[in-house]
Amino acid sequence: MSTTATLGYDVFVNEPPPQDGFLPNGDPKRFSPMASTLIYGGEDAVLTDPGMTEDQADALGDWVAARDRNLTDIFVTHGHGDHWFAAGLLAERFGARVVATAGTIAQMHGSVATRPLLWDKVYTGIPPASVTAVTVPDNRFTLEGHDLVMVEVGHTDSDDTSVLHVPDLGLVVAGDSIYNGVHMYLGQSAVGGFGPWRAAIDKVEALRPRHIVCGHQDKELDDDAGRTIAQTRQYLDDADELLRTETTAVGFFNAKIERYPAYLGRLVLWVSASSLYGVRDHPEGNPAQIILNSWL
Ligand SMILES: [Zn+2]
Repeated sequence: MSTTATLGYDVFVNEPPPQDGFLPNGDPKRFSPMASTLIYGGEDAVLTDPGMTEDQADALGDWVAARDRNLTDIFVTHGHGDHWFAAGLLAERFGARVVATAGTIAQMHGSVATRPLLWDKVYTGIPPASVTAVTVPDNRFTLEGHDLVMVEVGHTDSDDTSVLHVPDLGLVVAGDSIYNGVHMYLGQSAVGGFGPWRAAIDKVEALRPRHIVCGHQDKELDDDAGRTIAQTRQYLDDADELLRTETTAVGFFNAKIERYPAYLGRLVLWVSASSLYGVRDHPEGNPAQIILNSWL
């Protein structure tokens, strides 16, 4: 927890939902922990990335309720369902508005379309989710007079992603542009490489945050901006190197685990490896279908 005179923030890390199946090394398939941030003033508060399943919404909602603030807005960083399928439940429980950039809202509609092909095949307990998010003028809104700024950073783990900058806290809520102790989802970089993601990291760094909350983070770790930015860059550099030296997805998977033994979310590592090598080894194939199949 961190506070200024009038604003503070706190982070809740939800456990991954249950899942069947095993990874190539015998580990059970398990999604990544998912972090939501509550930015609060004396009376009001804003919540970010409210998670995916009904169980997660219950756990997060009880945590929010215990903070005893009036929840005005729920901000969604990007369109991936794990960050917002539960938004409607939280919005209804607290009477809050859901906000996002226009680009993210378009991506959310895309996730609704792919939901029966992907999310519902892998996870149970995802509530009915329609896109209720709205944009705000100039991508800015306020919390008790303090600016909250949605900053578009482009392609990271998906297209049209954004972060929330809270200048008065030196805070960036980074969604999946920056990771913290968790394997990064590289699948959607299988076409186009990591250049756009590196540019997005530069945009986050240019905001000069002291603290970064990542959409997927190990709750045992701190939120130091310099460290998380450096480690996110390093992870991409390592991925590029391993794509040159490893000939198979399993080789990439094993080599990453060797370099990052404490990182959580090995399911996402496996999906990333399957997508990167699947697209590379099948230039005649449909990349979107190859990436989708990597989840199943
Ligand atoms: Zn995510």
